[in-house]
Amino acid sequence: MRTPLIAGNWKMHKTVAQSERFISGLLPLLYAADGVEVGICVPYTDLQAMVDSARGSRVEVYAQNMHEAPEGAFTGEISAEMLTEIDVHGVVLGHSERREFFNETDTALAEKLLAARAAGLAAILCVGETEDQRTDGATESVLKRQLERGLALLDAEALAELVIAYEPVWAIGTGAVATAEQAQEACAFIRSRVAVIDAAAAESVRILYGGSVKADNAAELLALPDVDGALVGGASLEPESFAAIIGAAVS
Ligand code: PEP
Repeated sequence: MRTPLIAGNWKMHKTVAQSERFISGLLPLLYAADGVEVGICVPYTDLQAMVDSARGSRVEVYAQNMHEAPEGAFTGEISAEMLTEIDVHGVVLGHSERREFFNETDTALAEKLLAARAAGLAAILCVGETEDQRTDGATESVLKRQLERGLALLDAEALAELVIAYEPVWAIGTGAVATAEQAQEACAFIRSRVAVIDAAAAESVRILYGGSVKADNAAELLALPDVDGALVGGASLEPESFAAIIGAAVS
């Protein structure tokens, strides 16, 4: 039995004041969210405030990136230890926006996953194909490559505790949600690739679907056998729409 995880990715949205308003609106809406893990992936400047405000609730706070090195001459970057020191729970790695706009590579992601694990941070690794890659029939080869390279340094125990988000790039922020069939097929394929590395880990690893998840399509996606939750962008910015998606994950 895999615990469902609904994680909101705020991207570059919300000042500290706005994040405080969000969390005060969200927490009272989560009274019936038993059995669901909830995460918010927030800008660096909101981390401390959200850790403090969410303490004792079911909401766990994630960063949206980190550097793989423990410290050093990497202007503008932050390390895993800087996150754990302020009780951040985890980190999202390899979001397609970081891959596209900030040249995030699978090799660096493998090192980031290792560094996150060593520091005790939970990690969500994002993978997914572009529209052109899907049209060219390359979805599985893209996912296979991203997983082979990204997971290269993790042992079976780390793999079992990892979260992988399948986020087709063409569905992110576009309103063009994957069909249930497309989402299930890709998430089952991801699980099969984890099984190639370790069969037991493949049963435990949680796989999220991400890409235009909204309150009205969440239930169908979350009911799929290989979908263990959702990574939610736009609909995670308002407490009501985010809470409705969390509600769809309650069994
Ligand atoms: C995301 O940012 O990871 C995402 C899935 O965005 P949206 O839900 O807005 O498509």
